[in-house]
This record gives sequence, C-alpha cells and structure tokens, in this order.
Amino acid sequence: MNCKDCSEKLDRFVDRELNSTEVLELQLHLETCPDCQDHYEFEAHIKRLVRHSCDCDTPPAFREKLRQLLT
Ligand SMILES: [Zn+2]
Repeated sequence: MNCKDCSEKLDRFVDRELNSTEVLELQLHLETCPDCQDHYEFEAHIKRLVRHSCDCDTPPAFREKLRQLLT
C-alpha cells in the first residue's frame, strides 16, 4: 500500500467499513508512515466532532462546514 491508496481508504477505515484484510494493510501502512498517521488522526477527530454534533441541536450550517473540512 502507498500513501495514495491509504488516503483513498482512510475515510472508510474511520467509518469501519473496510474488510479485515484492508484494515490490516492500512494499519501496517499507518505504523510506518507519519504523514498518513497525521491524516488519520485528523479525520478521526473530525468524524468524532461531526458525530457528536449530530446528537444535539447543532445548526445544519455548522455540520455542513465540518463536512467540507473532510473533503
Ligand atoms: Zn502514507
């Protein structure tokens, strides 16, 4: 796996939508690649924020802004 593959799968990794082989490959890459690790931590953090903000009365505009940060 290279960084391009990794970033393509990162979104689904954070959402736990990858199969176990893909997860292993991605974890292996993350362990050896600080750049992707940073990217992963950022995505995971944003996802948590988005998920959390869905639980309460956050204005849709704010959620939309967070979504845009992901792309
Ligand atoms: Zn990488």
